[in-house]
Amino acid sequence: MATPGGLTPRSTSQNCCQCPCPCAEPQPPPTSAGDPPTLAAFTEQQKEFQATARKFAREEIIPVAAEYDKTGEAYCVTEPGAGSDVAAIKTKAEKKGDEYIINGQKMWITNGGKANWYFLLARSDLDPKAPASKAFTGFIVEADTTGVQVGRKELNMGQRCSDTRGIVFEDVRVPKENVLIGEGAGFKIAMGAFDKTRPLVAAGAVGLAQRALDEATKYALERKTFGKLLVESKPSIQVKLEWFGML
Ligand SMILES: Cc1cc2nc3c(=O)[nH]c(=O)nc-3n(C[C@H](O)[C@H](O)[C@H](O)COP(=O)(O)OP(=O)(O)OC[C@H]3O[C@@H](n4cnc5c(N)ncnc54)[C@H](O)[C@@H]3O)c2cc1C
Repeated sequence: MATPGGLTPRSTSQNCCQCPCPCAEPQPPPTSAGDPPTLAAFTEQQKEFQATARKFAREEIIPVAAEYDKTGEAYCVTEPGAGSDVAAIKTKAEKKGDEYIINGQKMWITNGGKANWYFLLARSDLDPKAPASKAFTGFIVEADTTGVQVGRKELNMGQRCSDTRGIVFEDVRVPKENVLIGEGAGFKIAMGAFDKTRPLVAAGAVGLAQRALDEATKYALERKTFGKLLVESKPSIQVKLEWFGML
């Protein structure tokens, strides 16, 4: 884009962000509204067959599959008072006979209202001096266990389709067979999961920030108010964009 003062925006990504998420996948151009390109090559008979197969899947298979789906999981680690600092979680698991009694509150749990079972991290060694590597245990908790109270869906600023909720665990009894790996092994399991998932979250955040900057630059270079481009009439915008290396 040619602009006064030789200001040129860097290329603007076509994706909503620059992460490897589905939103970044290139979409094939439609042959007609809503049709994938291959559909245009189908005979009438093939199109009819495809429509029948879709109808059958939608009406007969999907509802039954959803009923039997026991794979929905949620990862319950974060609490109102403990996010980055996982070792600060307060949810506790006390062993009584062959089971553990779990009490505590989890927050920001993705898939919290849909999951059939939870991975739950709780403090099993109540000695505050116990090292994190031994003090926490990971449990599998069935979502319909008595004492599990799932909160309302949060109104997230982003990821608004994500079912993110608080979950309270009140005197939830979990059999000792539901301990993952062994008592005291929970912290390592939780951190292992974060190691795999956090880089993707970070990539998404960087991509979104980059796209926001690209869009802000583009707007500042094309929007005119009182006869001048925003970037000219507001030096503070120019300074900031230069600072970010956009101009
Ligand atoms: C949409 C969404 C979905 C989520 N899903 C789940 C889920 O399924 N399961 C789950 O267990 N949790 C989930 N979380 C919670 C998420 O893991 C926490 O938000 C995250 O761990 C950060 O914790 P916090 O929000 O308490 O922020 P805090 O820990 O309070 O941190 C606030 C800010 O301070 C910074 N900070 C903190 N400590 C330091 C330090 N020592 N040095 C420098 N900077 C620091 C952080 O980087 C952050 O920018 C979800 C959160 C969101 C928003």
